[in-house]
Amino acid sequence: MESSDRDLKKNWKLQQRQLARAAFPVADQLLESLFDSVESNVDVHGCDHSLRFTTQWISEHEQPEQPILEWLAAHGGHCDCEVVTNAADHWEQNC
Ligand SMILES: [Zn+2]
Repeated sequence: MESSDRDLKKNWKLQQRQLARAAFPVADQLLESLFDSVESNVDVHGCDHSLRFTTQWISEHEQPEQPILEWLAAHGGHCDCEVVTNAADHWEQNC
């Protein structure tokens, strides 16, 4: 019994991870690049409670803005500093 409970839990976790991964708006490499870029900009310039570095990266890399912003917001990334903490954390846990 115990081991099957553990298996169920393991499967559930795996499933959650797959669901999380399926919702990623762009490829892992791009997300990594986005988080790196926003993080270094926030380090230097600080966060002005907007998504200016995030949207800057999106237009520089010609990526789809709406799905990325929606995904970031769904994971607590409502401004640049939250993107590199909350949303990046969610990505790191599931990538
Ligand atoms: Zn902020």
